[in-house]
Amino acid sequence: MTETQLKLKDHYQLAIIGCGPAGMAAALNAQIRRLDYVLIGKEPCSPKMIKAPKVENFLGFPEIKGEELRQRFLKHLEQMKIEIVPWKITNVYKGPPFTLLGGDYTTTADAVILAIGVSPQNLFFGETKLLGRGVGYCATCDGPLYANKTVAIIAYNKEGESEANYLADIAEHVIYIPYYNEIGKLDPRIEIKKGSVKSLNGNYKLEDLVLENEKIALDGVFIVRDNLPSEQLMPELKLSANAIEVNHNLETNIPGLFAAGDCTGQPYQLLKAAGEGATATLQAIKYLESLGKKA
Ligand SMILES: Cc1cc2nc3c(=O)[nH]c(=O)nc-3n(C[C@H](O)[C@H](O)[C@H](O)COP(=O)(O)OP(=O)(O)OC[C@H]3O[C@@H](n4cnc5c(N)ncnc54)[C@H](O)[C@@H]3O)c2cc1C
Repeated sequence: MTETQLKLKDHYQLAIIGCGPAGMAAALNAQIRRLDYVLIGKEPCSPKMIKAPKVENFLGFPEIKGEELRQRFLKHLEQMKIEIVPWKITNVYKGPPFTLLGGDYTTTADAVILAIGVSPQNLFFGETKLLGRGVGYCATCDGPLYANKTVAIIAYNKEGESEANYLADIAEHVIYIPYYNEIGKLDPRIEIKKGSVKSLNGNYKLEDLVLENEKIALDGVFIVRDNLPSEQLMPELKLSANAIEVNHNLETNIPGLFAAGDCTGQPYQLLKAAGEGATATLQAIKYLESLGKKA
């Protein structure tokens, strides 16, 4: 399914963002407890599990491959008639209700569980300072601001290609900086430059990017990673040691917003992720009950 065909309602009791083990376990409890919920996840669900060659510590499944376990999780969802909406969320606005945004789509929810995996740790020098001032994460959302300007895309995966192709129709000059091999289909107007980005620079707004030893003057840069930094998703979110700070009930500093799995910090383990996901839904139900939103 592509984003242009997303099946979404305007409002849910609960939105679960992320379709790794934490998000899937959260959805399982939401389904069992008959919540009006949506499970949202950028595909493929849990690239980490695909990469895990052998899992030895998942109770009841000795020596199972990560991909085999992942397929079992997906089959379990299918059997329970749980659908995954293949959507990348770029912003969550504080409720009530919370508003979720990504590309051309939006929805709202009374409670939200973030199950988004680990936040990228190595942000580029200047990235946080210039966020929203020339630095962004969603070309589809902000691209029109760069009509007839010079824009770069730093991409960690092929998703960057469709963002760059979209910008090629709008911007005067698009520079593509891939952090992966095997580039697919790029518009011939796009200039590809390879190398490590050393810094993003500017005083009040982005002015240039330094790539190896070359300084490139720019109006905008979009960074396409597998995961967004949590603080970009929701700037008010309290972090601790680069993880979302939660208490024993998986509550964040924002009422109605819960977090589960790797995004809440170490240990990065499947059982911890699944356990937190399941628990977060039960806590979200208590929260909804306190609002009178769940019978
Ligand atoms: C090579 C490797 C081997 C491993 N081996 C083991 C092992 O043997 N045992 C073990 O216990 N653990 C192992 N792990 C760790 C385990 O895979 C993780 O702890 C687990 O996958 C975390 O689950 P999660 O649901 O928190 O996050 P993830 O599995 O990372 O899932 C997060 C999901 O959310 C999606 N997402 C993120 N942001 C957004 C957004 N903004 N909008 C929509 N969707 C979004 C992502 O695309 C992803 O699908 C291994 C990890 C790796 C990389």
